[in-house]
Amino acid sequence: MAAQVIIDEEECIGCESCVELCPSVFGWDEDSEKAFVNEGADANDDCVEEAVASCPSECIEVE
Ligand code: SF4
Repeated sequence: MAAQVIIDEEECIGCESCVELCPSVFGWDEDSEKAFVNEGADANDDCVEEAVASCPSECIEVE
């Protein structure tokens, strides 16, 4: 099965770090002020790892 990126939205504090580092995979929801994973995003994109490492809430997972 292809890898999948998942954000625990309960834990996301909306710092936008993942969106800045990896806009191909992470989008920004203005209403909820939280990040989301773009539909059809490539979980193997190199920037995903960077985003995971920089997330202050450690709420991004790759499965
Ligand atoms: S880096 Fe983590 S806390 Fe910051 S917006 Fe992304 S998912 Fe949310």
